[in-house]
Amino acid sequence: MRSLAIVDVDSTLVHNAEPLFKELRKYSPDLLPPSQWTHWDYLVEHIPKDIFLSAVTSVQMRIGEEPPLPGAYDLLEWLYERYTVVIASDRAPECYDSLTNWLYKYHLLHDQVHVSPNKTVLFPEAAIVVDDSPRMLVAARQMGVPIAVGIRYPWNKNLGLTLVKDLFWLHDALITWEKTHGNSLEDDCKGFRGI
Ligand SMILES: [Mg+2]
Repeated sequence: MRSLAIVDVDSTLVHNAEPLFKELRKYSPDLLPPSQWTHWDYLVEHIPKDIFLSAVTSVQMRIGEEPPLPGAYDLLEWLYERYTVVIASDRAPECYDSLTNWLYKYHLLHDQVHVSPNKTVLFPEAAIVVDDSPRMLVAARQMGVPIAVGIRYPWNKNLGLTLVKDLFWLHDALITWEKTHGNSLEDDCKGFRGI
């Protein structure tokens, strides 16, 4: 039974690229801005791995400085009423408290927080995956997740993925999808993919 809604954090619930860009530009002044990160591996191809990982963790520890992306509350409320909501993020263990504090600060409804480098272990039970990572969206599809969708960014567009402008659009699309296709997201979701 697919009962989980798996929701990513960075660039899904919160701005992450701009803070990361500011952090990494200290080490690499020639780094292009996020609008030109045209593929997922752009950063790791241009920044030494240890510096990249340190910067990511630094930004993730300071998530409390950022508000949620518009529409995050409404989307999570909709999902929470229907599924077991798992906030899933590839983060260092020391980032767990800053993430949970941020979720509670903004009343972002959820059932579980999953912090690990491999969220795909959750996908066999997922009814929906919301993520900006092309690898996660492709993996979700390959593992039969009925709906795998993310916000459109330069690093995930043009790959044939299901992408939306923002979380308001996604929330509206899910409401429409439910009215059109019934209450089970295990049903055919061709109509949903049309957004
Ligand atoms: Mg992300």
